[in-house]
Amino acid sequence: MILPICLIGNSILRKKATDIDKNYPNLDQLITDMFETMYHTDGVGLAAPQIGKSIRLFVIDGDVMNEDYPDLKDFKRIFINAYLVEEEGEEWSFNEGCLSIPGIREDVKRLTKFRLKYYDENWEFHDEIFDGGRARIMQHEYDHLEGILFTDKISPIRRKLINPKLVSIAKGKTFPKYKFVPNK
Ligand SMILES: [Zn+2]
Repeated sequence: MILPICLIGNSILRKKATDIDKNYPNLDQLITDMFETMYHTDGVGLAAPQIGKSIRLFVIDGDVMNEDYPDLKDFKRIFINAYLVEEEGEEWSFNEGCLSIPGIREDVKRLTKFRLKYYDENWEFHDEIFDGGRARIMQHEYDHLEGILFTDKISPIRRKLINPKLVSIAKGKTFPKYKFVPNK
């Protein structure tokens, strides 16, 4: 089932998401629906707050970017109760977009290495270091669990320039072609 996407201006995107446990209702179905929604909207990652659930869950499939980033070939993963351990390395810029901020892409600087502890869909614990394209997608999705959007991380000048567009989305005057939750 394709789920409606919450857009910037919706307070759920600003909340710190909470852990879930194995008894979380219909988790398998939720994960299936999140992948379906992500593919339908041409996303490479989707975090639960974006579909209105403030829980620590995000899904990723970076395979469509594998021509530019070979490490993303078949990189389809599920991250539950993820927590950042550390980030390190050089800063590099990448032009990011977000299903919750339709029509806007901006260069965002992030560090190359991203170490995360998390559970997978089988509730196996992992403590793993990611880099390159993998780290980039994960850093963006992880930020959603912390209530952070990529537009928080762009230069103040760029933010000022795009602010009218952000306000337009937040006020419901600009919206995507895919299913979304209207902002009040
Ligand atoms: Zn996003």
